[in-house]
Amino acid sequence: MPPSPANPLRRLLFVETITAPGQPNARGRLDETQARSLLRRAATRGYAVEATRSGGALITWTVKRLGPADGQVTTSPRSVALDPVTPARITPAVRRDLEAVDDSPGAALFLAPDARTPGHGRIRSGLYSIPPATSERLITGGLLTLGEITPARDWARDSFGAILGTYTSVRLSLVARLAMHAADHHTSTGEPRGWVSMPHSAGRQDRGGRGYDRSSWANCACHWSTFAEDRPDAARRAREHRQSRTAALITSL
Ligand SMILES: [Zn+2]
Repeated sequence: MPPSPANPLRRLLFVETITAPGQPNARGRLDETQARSLLRRAATRGYAVEATRSGGALITWTVKRLGPADGQVTTSPRSVALDPVTPARITPAVRRDLEAVDDSPGAALFLAPDARTPGHGRIRSGLYSIPPATSERLITGGLLTLGEITPARDWARDSFGAILGTYTSVRLSLVARLAMHAADHHTSTGEPRGWVSMPHSAGRQDRGGRGYDRSSWANCACHWSTFAEDRPDAARRAREHRQSRTAALITSL
């Protein structure tokens, strides 16, 4: 049986873990609306937010305080991790289904009064159709969120015009959006070349015409790339890229 569309937005899809030095981790459960609002507040405050491939996000920031001595500033790292209750696993087939739903504002789950009615439990998105078992997996796995129940359309009426069922709109969940976004911005850094022949270099590390090339680079699945001084610099630039893209995603939600 497909899940009941009752109270779809109250599904507590995220575990929130708040970490502060010297304090026990605080945990709570958030629904999608609360998680989205938390991410927006974090982005507005300029905190670093990064989507995770499991469909969650990590928010990090630093608290600065004066003292204990005059003129002294102590810093303390803080974080809030949002982890999906059911980690997303976006296979290519799942991604195809999710993109089809996302491309069509009219995507809906068809529920017939009688489960034996052909098409019952099937998600339709334009001409795209997702079989009932797959539709159920996407919904119970927290990748699709059910919305408003809407009247059935013409094709869902029998030849006498009687309504055979209802539609419940479906859309991508925040978990799905974060997971797909993290996959779209999967980064890697380049291995420095190390000792290389540099006959014309006047660098201070030259030894017998050889020099140490520590330069690196960062690449992203979205085709972004940049050169970096060394590998830690490349990792930092890649992290900044992922965080800036996540901030843009959150702003658009
Ligand atoms: Zn990217």
